[in-house]
Amino acid sequence: MSMHYKLFTASDDTDFGKKAADVLIDLLQKYSSRTPKVILPTGNTPLPLYAELRKRGAAALPRMEYFQLDEYLGLAADHPRLFLNEMKANLLGPLGIPLRSAFSSATKNNSGQLDAVGSKFSFFGHPDIAVIGIGPNGHVGFNEPNTKFDEGPHVVRLSRETIQANSKDWDVAKFGEFPETAITLGIKDLKQAQHTILLVRGEAKACILAKAFHGDVTEKVPASYLQQQRNVTIVADRAALSAFPS
Ligand code: PGA
Repeated sequence: MSMHYKLFTASDDTDFGKKAADVLIDLLQKYSSRTPKVILPTGNTPLPLYAELRKRGAAALPRMEYFQLDEYLGLAADHPRLFLNEMKANLLGPLGIPLRSAFSSATKNNSGQLDAVGSKFSFFGHPDIAVIGIGPNGHVGFNEPNTKFDEGPHVVRLSRETIQANSKDWDVAKFGEFPETAITLGIKDLKQAQHTILLVRGEAKACILAKAFHGDVTEKVPASYLQQQRNVTIVADRAALSAFPS
């Protein structure tokens, strides 16, 4: 399959943050007549990007509205590991980025909120820019392997692999039990983005990154939808690219 993506290789975390910030700011600048809707990820991978954006300051950042990609369910609204609270602390607060759409994590039975998010997306139109990461099992957001590509926002039971990967730095004494369920935008929502930026750091992602772009397009590897997506930019460090055919 012929694929069109741009690839930026970072030499270290600082360089990763700078390259990712340049790519994002460059895209945001294309939306001069309206405020773009931007999906941004949480987790470890984007932290150098958020550090770089904070360093450059609010004046260097074109306007945007933030849409949440995914969220744990069952955590209290003030829980420090709620993705929304991490985003507020790392980015939205320091840079004054308006929050347009968030998942509520207050209860596990979230169907009311889920409907609201789904309808907000159709009411406000499609996301403009989706910035995403990839999980070691190929998940994007919390779209775990075998999620249908045409699925919208939905509640998920987290896979064992994801719980293992994400609970590494989760102190149960401090944060309580690790959540077993989460809510996520679907691949269908992500496909509607005009531009996608995939951020990947570390050797643990090398195999899955190669598989996502050079293996079959299959729901078994959720990130493989990117092979059929236009306007994809990958920002990755050398370790993450170590299995990537050049
Ligand atoms: P990470 O998570 O950035 O913490 O590795 C990425 C993901 O699981 O999507």
